[in-house]
Amino acid sequence: MAEQDYYDILGVSKDASEKDIKRAYRRLAAKYHPDVNHEPGAEEKFKKINEAYETLSDSQKRAQYDQFGSAGPQAGQGFGGFGGGQTYSNFGGGFDDIFSQFFGGGGRTRRDPTAPRQGRDLQYSMTLDFMDAVFGKTTTIKYDRDAECKTCHGTGAKPGKSPVTCSRCHGTGVVVNVRQTPLGNMQTQTTCPECNGTGKIIKPEDRCNTCHGAGHVHERHELEVKVPAGVDDGQQMRLQHQGDAGENGGPAGDLYIVFRVTPSREFRRDGSTIYVDRDISFAQAALGDEVKVKTVHGDVDLKIPAGTQSETNFRLRGKGVPHLNGNGNGDEHVTVHVKTPKSLNKRQREAMMAFAAASGEDVKGVKKTVLDKLRDAFEDK
Ligand SMILES: [Zn+2]
Ligand SMILES: [Zn+2]
Repeated sequence: MAEQDYYDILGVSKDASEKDIKRAYRRLAAKYHPDVNHEPGAEEKFKKINEAYETLSDSQKRAQYDQFGSAGPQAGQGFGGFGGGQTYSNFGGGFDDIFSQFFGGGGRTRRDPTAPRQGRDLQYSMTLDFMDAVFGKTTTIKYDRDAECKTCHGTGAKPGKSPVTCSRCHGTGVVVNVRQTPLGNMQTQTTCPECNGTGKIIKPEDRCNTCHGAGHVHERHELEVKVPAGVDDGQQMRLQHQGDAGENGGPAGDLYIVFRVTPSREFRRDGSTIYVDRDISFAQAALGDEVKVKTVHGDVDLKIPAGTQSETNFRLRGKGVPHLNGNGNGDEHVTVHVKTPKSLNKRQREAMMAFAAASGEDVKGVKKTVLDKLRDAFEDK
């Protein structure tokens, strides 16, 4: 028999595109793969398909072949030997249709495992003191991530070595399983477990010594983080490309820092507004005074006007939390509570009676019982 033409073997025309050749090869390789096809002559056919593909998929070899032909091995039984595969007995439309049905369009819809992929995003929970959240801080964090191997730069191969075609799937990235049905052999295609669908493997002796072929290494990463002033509980910050390393040259994922802010004993916070309480005496409320009030920026003087009622609110402009965008501060709200004296000494009592008389009041006054005094002492604790 005459030497068989590579184009005929793959069932493509002489002007077939690279894509057509690859598609045809995948279909045939799937069909004649020795893992699934145990018919006589299948293995021989499979070898020839690979040989044809090796030449036609390489533009240089293909040009040479077109010009000089090949001194390849003798043709076997050729297309006549298709037997058994009743369903796919020719390369016409029927074949195509059936294959697109079984193969989801001949692999076109399958995700390309060799395409660059971004690495995983990671999350880090950072607990901040109340004041650190208000004013921000620079800190160093440590977390685990997969980083690109610096020895092989992610290829997984020793310097000077590179991955080779996977022998299990012959570079197709898929293995084919055959099931007998009344209609003939049904084929399903799954990702090659040997190469994880990449079509390439690194020989054990060629594997990078640092990462053992993985292309990435597990590392405890240290990173200096600048926490901006004004972050709040539950907010998160994204640090680009500080997550796990990407695959096939894709970028690293991102790191999300989630802030947990410890509450303060002195200040209540709502966004950029701070709330505080301040006790004042009856005399201060009645006569007016200037009192010190705590703010996150330090103590400030607050003017209490004469005649201030209990629960009056005062606003201290700009004494709250810095806005996250760096544009000034929020305010502090001070609520004053007028405190009634719990006990009076003799002089205070006389002054208070005189005050009542001056106000035209006839106040009787009630002597405190021992129980009242005990309760006072208890409450003051
Ligand atoms: Zn490596
Ligand atoms: Zn494989």
